[in-house]
Amino acid sequence: MKPKKQNADFLHVGEKLLAWYEISGRDLPFRKTKDPYKIWICEIIFQQTRIEQGLNHYKNFIKRFPDLETLANADTDEVLLYWKGLGYYSRALNLHKAAKQIIEDFNGKFPENYDDILKLKGVGKYTAAAISSICFNEKIPAVDGNFYRVLSRVFADDFDISNSKAFNYFSELALMMMPKNEAGHFNEAMMDLGSEICKPKNPKCEICPLNKNCIAFNTGNIQNFPVKSKKVKPTDLELTYYFVEFKDRFLIRQRNDGFIWKKLYEFPTEIPDEFENYITHQKTVNHKLTHKNLTIHFYKVSLNSKKGFEEFAVKNGFRISSQDDAALKSFPKSLENYLAENV
Ligand code: SF4
Repeated sequence: MKPKKQNADFLHVGEKLLAWYEISGRDLPFRKTKDPYKIWICEIIFQQTRIEQGLNHYKNFIKRFPDLETLANADTDEVLLYWKGLGYYSRALNLHKAAKQIIEDFNGKFPENYDDILKLKGVGKYTAAAISSICFNEKIPAVDGNFYRVLSRVFADDFDISNSKAFNYFSELALMMMPKNEAGHFNEAMMDLGSEICKPKNPKCEICPLNKNCIAFNTGNIQNFPVKSKKVKPTDLELTYYFVEFKDRFLIRQRNDGFIWKKLYEFPTEIPDEFENYITHQKTVNHKLTHKNLTIHFYKVSLNSKKGFEEFAVKNGFRISSQDDAALKSFPKSLENYLAENV
């Protein structure tokens, strides 16, 4: 469905946005480069992480993996280690897989157009648009929540952003505003306006460069935009972990490609009956993931037999770990907290 508005001066609004960006856009390290590898890393990191929170991670990641080849040849555990603290570890695994994919399918050269970039593991329409517009000036809006919010408010547009057609609808609208040859800057400007000025709560309308054009603002209607009807209700999930230790050693193992926490490390989730005499319940914590509310029970099992400890480890594929060894592995946040408090 195409946007209905015919008369508004879309381009004029786009140019105003760019003029504001030239003066007030954020001075971020990755804004100084057009290297698609670096833009890709930063887009993936900042998808679910605030800039202030992820900036040091970005710098450390680029320092350790300065180019595609280094990343493709790295050990998965090390890539995950450099992702520690950012959460959503599947992003790191996908980065790693996509780096290998570029070496194999694109002769080691980062793809230079939207369609090819979209083929990379873990890259969606938004990221492909951001990279192709910023690095190769392809005229494609990088539509995300910021676009939905700003555009629906500026034009008081009640198109439902949970509608599956919202992406295309707001892309059309953004294209009508995008000044010629300025795709990258336009997308960056929209990201900055959405995160710094037109925030979800308490937007700073008094200093917004679009306030004269913003229909929601001028009609006192901001709280009604964007319109969102559907909400995905998270489901509950209960987990139990046993921290099985003997002296200063404990058991961990790497998760497989299951539905959460892929490739991260964890403790045993089951123990044999004979261990039950050594159990103490330690605590229960709640942890929220995007679509799951987790309740995690932690039990400590302090064994007094090295033989029983080692036999259980070997039989069930556990690694006998020390504190130093575990520090080089990546765990889900709640397990990491447990280790910090108990080891
Ligand atoms: Fe957002 Fe306010 Fe600017 Fe409108 S005037 S775009 S609501 S910050």
